[in-house]
Amino acid sequence: QRSTVIITGASSGVGLYTAKALADTNQWDIVMACRNVEKSEKVAQEVGIPNDQYTVIPIDLANFDSVREFVNSFRTTGRSLDALVCNAAVYLPIEKEPQRNPNGYELTVATNHLGHFLLCNLLLEDLKQSSSPDPRLVILGTVTANRKELGGKIPIPAPPDLGDLEGFEKGFKAPIAMINGKKFKPGKAYKDSKLCNVLTMKELHRRYHEATGITFSSLYPGCVAESPLFRNHYPLFQKIFPWFQKKITGGYISEAEAGKRVAAVVKDPEYKQSGTYWSWGNRQKKDGKSFVQEMSPEATDEAKAQKLWDLSAKLVKFP
Ligand code: NDP
Repeated sequence: QRSTVIITGASSGVGLYTAKALADTNQWDIVMACRNVEKSEKVAQEVGIPNDQYTVIPIDLANFDSVREFVNSFRTTGRSLDALVCNAAVYLPIEKEPQRNPNGYELTVATNHLGHFLLCNLLLEDLKQSSSPDPRLVILGTVTANRKELGGKIPIPAPPDLGDLEGFEKGFKAPIAMINGKKFKPGKAYKDSKLCNVLTMKELHRRYHEATGITFSSLYPGCVAESPLFRNHYPLFQKIFPWFQKKITGGYISEAEAGKRVAAVVKDPEYKQSGTYWSWGNRQKKDGKSFVQEMSPEATDEAKAQKLWDLSAKLVKFP
């Protein structure tokens, strides 16, 4: 009997290769939670995930009705949920004006944070009832959202900063486009959303780890400079960035390697440490080992995590 994992955004990059790495163990069935079913089927075939080991269930994380429909569809399969990987993300660094989801919320934060926030809350019930003795919930973080790491110190275009969540407090609709209520900065919206991902993981851990035994964790798998995440960036950036990460920073890793790292956090005994943020460092060493990465004061601010939780719940109308 194989375990079941749901992976959001498994149609591309890190998510796809996480699916592949878990399928390769022959111990996991993959539910690909994706917005484009046809594409997901095609890429699953291309990387060689066996037919009987994956199912695609549609989800648009920016649309909260769709998130709820996804959960209902998953439940009709009757499967036990053993792990959830919140991986999908959009990065829209050169938008002049914010795009918005059906509720009118800025799209990057709506997709990366709010959609996943709702999904985690809904699926928590399923994870609690998991037939696995070791259910896990993993949320992808990133280096640029953590000021304790070199990549998080680079202020271009601006470091993540949620302020006092004034934008969320005021309802997060136009003209508001940022969580702190200040001027729209598209690259910063991505960093803010990833910081929210880490704060959500921390708050899930604080609220539910002891009572449920679920392991909540986050990770920075390395710089996957060639993933399609950068598809909305300037073409010149897309050309130079992988080279820069390979030759200058040493941060580059392949999609396949990143997928193996996420898969390890999903299944390996050594990653059964709830509340932890894992990193493999900025520079890739041969046989590089992961370590527990220290997080920025903002990412470990318990009061902020709780406030973010309450305001996010209001914005997605949960419960
Ligand atoms: P990709 O752009 O390759 O993959 C993103 C995935 O998210 C795609 O499957 C995409 O679907 C999906 N997605 C986007 N919007 C939605 C939506 N509204 N509903 C459902 N699915 C959606 O990026 P990566 O693989 O590089 O990134 C994956 C994760 O890894 C992200 O969380 C990112 O922050 C994190 N990360 C990436 C790093 C990197 O260097 N690339 C470094 C550190 C962390 P579709 O295929 O339809 O577009």
